[in-house]
Amino acid sequence: MNKDQRDSNRRNARQLETIVHNAEMARHRCENCGEPGGHWISTRGSSLEALITGIDDQEGFWTCQKLYGEDGRRLVA
Ligand SMILES: [Zn+2]
Repeated sequence: MNKDQRDSNRRNARQLETIVHNAEMARHRCENCGEPGGHWISTRGSSLEALITGIDDQEGFWTCQKLYGEDGRRLVA
């Protein structure tokens, strides 16, 4: 395989990754605002205890448009 072909393959792979990622994000509906897209940014995943007890203890924050005002400040829910 020559260099051009390898570069082209790499580009295609990246494009496919983006398409797959976007499709997954679009399929996911936000459980907070109901809009399509993944609005939950997880900063710490669920612990093993959470998996056992079923109580989700993951930490993170929402990026929903509805939770933030035009000045970027968080609205009171
Ligand atoms: Zn949302």
